[in-house]
Amino acid sequence: MRVTKATVIRECAVCERTLLQGEVTVRFSPDGVEFVDVCPLCQEAALDYGWVREGGPMSRALSPHQRRKRPRWAQLLGVGTEDVAQPVVPEPVLRRLSDSEAALVEAADLFNASLFRRTIEGVARALGEPFVSVVPLSGVNGEVVLTFAWEITWYQYRVTPEASQPIRLADRGADISEIEPVFQEWNAELDDQGRVVPSVAT
Ligand SMILES: [Zn+2]
Repeated sequence: MRVTKATVIRECAVCERTLLQGEVTVRFSPDGVEFVDVCPLCQEAALDYGWVREGGPMSRALSPHQRRKRPRWAQLLGVGTEDVAQPVVPEPVLRRLSDSEAALVEAADLFNASLFRRTIEGVARALGEPFVSVVPLSGVNGEVVLTFAWEITWYQYRVTPEASQPIRLADRGADISEIEPVFQEWNAELDDQGRVVPSVAT
């Protein structure tokens, strides 16, 4: 039997190593929707990131539609909860932001409440603080692009606030220079809790 060379090169989603033909991998989902291949050496890292193993239980905490809000009473009283997804900007600050600045903050809040935050936290634990940018796209649907870059890897997420799946991994790469200049205006950072904080919010 003639075997044609596979055209799809699989790589480990964690270490980005090209997987050997026939190498046994485990499928993980970073976002509860799409699955990626993870090599045997990186399974623990994937679990650390909070990725869900294929066939494993999808816990409610890892729901892709997770967008936690403070309870109504807490909003009324201006009381925070110990929720990890607390807004990065207190109400009074939010009020004096322009619409476009507020859109960046909203995108950051959505990201911070998502499972993807765990991915970035995990990489930051290994590689240190990333460069972060939050850039609105021109267009009617208010999309915002979040870019996280280290010297040797980068992740780019697209936030579409009104979508049922508001955040998706849009692109990633292995060299910071691959990132388009418009997304290299580093205008945000990760705080000590691993949340994205746009500089307009500080
Ligand atoms: Zn790996």
